[in-house]
Amino acid sequence: MITSPLQTEPIIGLEIHVQLRTETKMFCGCPVRFDAPPNSCVCPVCLGHPGALPVINKRAVALAIRAGLALNCDIASFTKWDRKSYYYPDMPKNYQISQYDLPLCGPGHFDIEVGPDVHRIRIRRAHLEEDAGKSIHEPSGGTLVDLNRAGTPLLEIVTEPDFHSAEQAHMFCVELHRLILHLGVSEAVMKKGQMRFEPNVNVRICSDNVEATTPIAEIKNLNSFKAVRRAISFDVERQIATWREDPQYVKGTAPSENRGYNDDRGITEFQRPKEAAHDYRYFPDPDLRPLNVSDEWLTRIRAELPELPIAREKRLIEQHGLSPSDARTILTDRTTADVFDEVVALGAPAGVAAKQLVNIWSQLANDRATPLAALPVSAERLAALAAFVDSGAVNKTAANRIAEAMLDGDESPAQLAESMGLLQIQDTDATQAWVDEALADNPDALEDLRTHPKKIKAVTGFLRGQIMKRSGGKADPKLVGQLLEKRLAELL
Ligand code: ZN
Ligand code: MN
Repeated sequence: MITSPLQTEPIIGLEIHVQLRTETKMFCGCPVRFDAPPNSCVCPVCLGHPGALPVINKRAVALAIRAGLALNCDIASFTKWDRKSYYYPDMPKNYQISQYDLPLCGPGHFDIEVGPDVHRIRIRRAHLEEDAGKSIHEPSGGTLVDLNRAGTPLLEIVTEPDFHSAEQAHMFCVELHRLILHLGVSEAVMKKGQMRFEPNVNVRICSDNVEATTPIAEIKNLNSFKAVRRAISFDVERQIATWREDPQYVKGTAPSENRGYNDDRGITEFQRPKEAAHDYRYFPDPDLRPLNVSDEWLTRIRAELPELPIAREKRLIEQHGLSPSDARTILTDRTTADVFDEVVALGAPAGVAAKQLVNIWSQLANDRATPLAALPVSAERLAALAAFVDSGAVNKTAANRIAEAMLDGDESPAQLAESMGLLQIQDTDATQAWVDEALADNPDALEDLRTHPKKIKAVTGFLRGQIMKRSGGKADPKLVGQLLEKRLAELL
């Protein structure tokens, strides 16, 4: 057993399967539906009946190219289909149609920001294939097979082993998920298995006089970001511990393996030795013609690419002065980001509009379990509320109530503020009176301030609250601040 201190470097690559957002399957016209009754979306092609012939889904190819372009990949002008043979009860043909040596999307790269550094992750390839069905293991012991999912278009993205920590891999998955959503190529709901991650992990180990590399473990089918991080962290430690016990546990000597992740226990478990490519007996599918991607088609898809999330986030921060966290929240989904751009284009003050989207409208959308963009309120009215609050007519608390009322009718923010009695009172005399009353009612606060001048922030905060209360919430906080500051200067 080796107990000396070690230098270790994890080496991690990722394979990601993304279900493409198409109406129909990859090679037949069956609908792609997540919750249809079992085996109701099937036909001779996806059931693998003899003699049934596959037909390529053009939309799936277009979506795959779109993702490939966003990952800076070369797109092949000539690509073909191959059979990847293996037996599994939920794969009735006994082979999967995939792409072997001529993938649709070739080498590319994707940059992620890790703190202040930009980390370039090389993409080895991204190819099209079909999903398998689902085996449902009954608690009573039997197994049922549902083939609705069989033949669903999948994009498999493969990175080079460019990650050196679980955190980096995790960050990439989060960023890739956001990209996929922005591109609209998949719904990417991980709970539905629409995006699945498979890290390949091994570790380079150096000690005083040994240099070793552990065998690769492929962790299958992770369907959350947290699982990606935890599974990789666990397996890195496991591999180092195994090597300490057994110096023969090195690549080339010990076999590579497939492992499953046990989420309840936070550990990975041995499944089977890892297959090598030759085990699959890949050969060109004789039922499908190779695919030519014309320059003209490629140009058209490229022209339809939206602004990508990382660039868009930068723009929101630099052009509109948003905080990084507000920019990130707005970019969580593309339709919300589109709403923001629209509202700003209509002349709304960007900062206030962003805060209202993040703090008010997202909350209202959440309460109603609907996307923000689907709330029954137009961009014009969103812009109107931002401008109204920015003018100082109402305070932020009032804005919440007005926003809620806006969902139930088409009165303007000004009309609502008026009818709900929320307009701020700009009257200096009235405000001055509230200031003086609050001071007279709280002599202790003033005394406190005389003996502890450092408490200025806490005490004025308290007094502001008292003044706002006296005004019934209608005083303009800005005016209150000015008048209070002036009066305190006179009194102290
Ligand atoms: Zn079918
Ligand atoms: Mn695959």
